[in-house]
Amino acid sequence: MLTRREFTRLAVAGAASQVVSPLLAQGGDGKIGYCIIGLGRISMDHFMPGVLASKNSKITGLVSGHRDKALAQAAKYGVPETSIYSYENMDQIKNNAAIDAVYVALPNSMHAEYTIRSARAGKHVLCEKPMATSVADSMAMIKACKEANKKLMIAYRCHYEPTNLRAMQLIREGKLGKIQAIESANGFRERAGEWRLDRKLAGGGPLMDMGVYSLNACRYLTGEEPVELKAYSSVIDHDGRFDTVEENVSWTMKFPSGVLASCNTTYGASMNGFYRVHGSLGFLYAEPAFAYQGLHLTAQFADPAGGKPIMLDEPNPSKDPSQFVAEAEYFSDCIVKDQTPKTAGEEGLLDMQYMSKIYESCGLPSL
Ligand code: NAD
Repeated sequence: MLTRREFTRLAVAGAASQVVSPLLAQGGDGKIGYCIIGLGRISMDHFMPGVLASKNSKITGLVSGHRDKALAQAAKYGVPETSIYSYENMDQIKNNAAIDAVYVALPNSMHAEYTIRSARAGKHVLCEKPMATSVADSMAMIKACKEANKKLMIAYRCHYEPTNLRAMQLIREGKLGKIQAIESANGFRERAGEWRLDRKLAGGGPLMDMGVYSLNACRYLTGEEPVELKAYSSVIDHDGRFDTVEENVSWTMKFPSGVLASCNTTYGASMNGFYRVHGSLGFLYAEPAFAYQGLHLTAQFADPAGGKPIMLDEPNPSKDPSQFVAEAEYFSDCIVKDQTPKTAGEEGLLDMQYMSKIYESCGLPSL
């Protein structure tokens, strides 16, 4: 991959015709253009500011059901009015060369349709978690992107975030010895009237929305896939909020090495999304581990030289939207370099399959 300066030098020297450069395909500034599908909280408060602060990405299109909101965002991000689409006509993005990729940030049940339509329109797809609301839809999304030869990445931002990467590194380096157990929880108190409480739009309750962070973390921390899953769910607040989705889920997982993980998620209480990893030589806490900022890692493990135990206390000073800058830059880089993202569709599909098993174990409908 050429740097911009190298490309300019070659172009000036008349050698550009020998180089297949992504710079030309992306309007000359080398940035990947994103069309944002769904102008809600994650898009407007986090992802779009992250793209703006990134080195290699920009916003070049918007899909919204609210024209006024889209016009205001278009003015803010310099998107031409002609690049604002509705849900009905968004397939026309195929004729917009300034759009390289889309970011799907809609209610979960809409992820599959808009991923598939975008791939068919010839665009790469960065899709929010949870990937979809069924295993079958997740498979269809992967298939559509493969058939269109487009990349599909699930927006698992923790995979690109320094505190989580540090936790993975310490475990991989064996600092904690043999991992025995992991505890994790993530949840919040959801208010009535939100689409997250409607199974048709959300696919399920807190497991799909918040528990997926703990599930995914247990997988990236161990580097293993669970072989057994057992779970319980409950509803404590019979106030109408949990008529179609669960309020609480608690599950345990057994990994091939023998690591046991126990996780909780809820829409009934505020949980400071965390994990605690216990190994034969020490422990590691990330608390909070999944928030947009303020992440904090502490650890204590044996000194291989036989000295006093090593203590780590590593607050992460990064501020929101740094995680979204990293996520956008990573996916854009995958597009430019033609690389498969670490959190491709297959990673999202695995979580969908595990969540389906967790629901089955609770006696709830599978996904
Ligand atoms: P939101 O309710 O704030 O936004 C949803 C958007 O979808 C809105 O623009 C809304 O107008 C649009 N929409 C279109 N059809 C709709 C319908 N029938 N009902 C409701 N809204 C409809 O939601 P959000 O919090 O931005 O979540 C969007 C997606 O992003 C979800 O899949 C969620 O899981 C995911 N998310 C990810 C993170 C993260 O950190 N990665 C954080 C929050 C949300």
